[in-house]
Amino acid sequence: MANGESPLELRMFIDGKGCAARSGKSYLSYDPCTGAPWASFPDAAEADVDDAVGAARGALGRADWGGLTASQRGLLLFRIADVIERHRDELARLETRENGKLLREMTAQMAAVPGWLRYFGGLADKIEGRVIPPGRANLLTYTLREPLGVIGAVTPWNSPILLAVYTIAPALAAGNTVVVKPSEIAAAGVVRFAELAASAGLPPGVINVVTGLGPTGGALVNHPGVNFVNFTGSTETGRKVGAAATARLAGVTLELGGKSPNIVFDDADLDAASAGVLSGIFSAGGQSCIAGSRALVQRSIYDAFLDRLTERTGRIVIGDPTQPATEVGPVASRQQFDKIAAMVATARDEGSRVLSGGSALDGDGYFYQPTILEAGNSAFIARNEVFGPVLTVMPFDDEAEAVALANDTEFGLAAGVWTTNLSRAHRMARVLDAGTVWVNMYRASAANVPFGGFKDSGLGFNNGIEAINKYLRTKAVWCELGKGQSDPFVLQI
Ligand code: NAD
Repeated sequence: MANGESPLELRMFIDGKGCAARSGKSYLSYDPCTGAPWASFPDAAEADVDDAVGAARGALGRADWGGLTASQRGLLLFRIADVIERHRDELARLETRENGKLLREMTAQMAAVPGWLRYFGGLADKIEGRVIPPGRANLLTYTLREPLGVIGAVTPWNSPILLAVYTIAPALAAGNTVVVKPSEIAAAGVVRFAELAASAGLPPGVINVVTGLGPTGGALVNHPGVNFVNFTGSTETGRKVGAAATARLAGVTLELGGKSPNIVFDDADLDAASAGVLSGIFSAGGQSCIAGSRALVQRSIYDAFLDRLTERTGRIVIGDPTQPATEVGPVASRQQFDKIAAMVATARDEGSRVLSGGSALDGDGYFYQPTILEAGNSAFIARNEVFGPVLTVMPFDDEAEAVALANDTEFGLAAGVWTTNLSRAHRMARVLDAGTVWVNMYRASAANVPFGGFKDSGLGFNNGIEAINKYLRTKAVWCELGKGQSDPFVLQI
């Protein structure tokens, strides 16, 4: 949208059709590069969520979805993957437009999304029950694996389509239907994904997208027709979602925030380690749950390593996220931008030393300088997730201290270890209290590798072959093949 144009009026996607909210209400979404409104979205209320859940339930009972064989479901996921592949650039541009992340990051994510659909599409016809050895003659016992029903997905703004697909791909492969509530900051990409899936032949009601603010997510999580909730977002919201879902005995997975340590030993390849520490925090402008936002550096190399970090950080190219030379774009929203500024101010007040950056860029967009602060592990900035381009550095003396500092956090999402000592690498992998440990690398994701957080970083996991089990229930079937029970008053054991 050029200056002076009205925002685009976008719709949500229910039962195979684009639609407005029943109330007619909408909200504005802002371009992070300019701060100007670029689109409006329907603000869905309970009635709209009810429509979406109703459409999803309807599809479960219809021949064109509920009646498909597992192989047919898998083939549909393959077809969606093909369509998404053809629309990769369009989707990447849309996501960059919404959340301000680098176009090359979003292009790489969109190139990966078909892989998720194909991985889980391929698993659809490998879902099997089993025949259980009977406890006596003339008995047949076996299990059936059945879809749960309607899956609710509530997602954040940093990787909107990829994180929705973390739910959509396994849930559909298992035969469920889905209602997604994307972040209010970045909903257009997810709506477009659902439209493209429909154009690939996915029947109405199988993927629905309701747009809106927090209460829309609340309406979805509380809806009695939603059998399982897959939530990705902040720990604060995750606690509420977890409580609401379990109160009505729905299943829930929570993928939450982090304060991940990136640990550099003095035996590391320091070129690789400094690149890895910078990439861990400043790629995606730090708006990544797995951001390595605490760098722990062995004291013997501490000063020299900080010189490398601050020198390269000072040269980071900040600007238009669509330009190939740009390394850090804006943060996604005014609210996030203000939160980052406030947290850095608190860190300064607490006495943290600013080694690089530390302020916003002038102008209308939400640009914040990549910032490095020196602070102890008990400092506010070292304990709380910023979700922005802010790295805290601190020294350690030996392996034991590195482990103690790394694990001294409420979070447990990820950790990085930089060392050329193989034994140390594997020792560290065992003792770090985090759902993912990267050794001599950082920030990677794949459809076939489980991903989930420990402690306040979450409950359960996404991805990997076992993720499909979250969306299935197990039914036990007992068959008498002989004459039957002799004593009607005794449990058959
Ligand atoms: P958020 O918690 O503010 O919002 C996430 C989603 O929840 C949004 O769609 C929002 O509208 C919705 N929501 C808000 N209140 C709700 C309520 N009461 N009930 C139901 N839904 C509600 O998070 P955010 O600011 O969009 O995203 C940033 C956070 O997400 C960070 O903490 C980040 O670490 C985390 N995150 C985690 C992962 C992971 O896989 N662990 C991945 C990406 C982001």
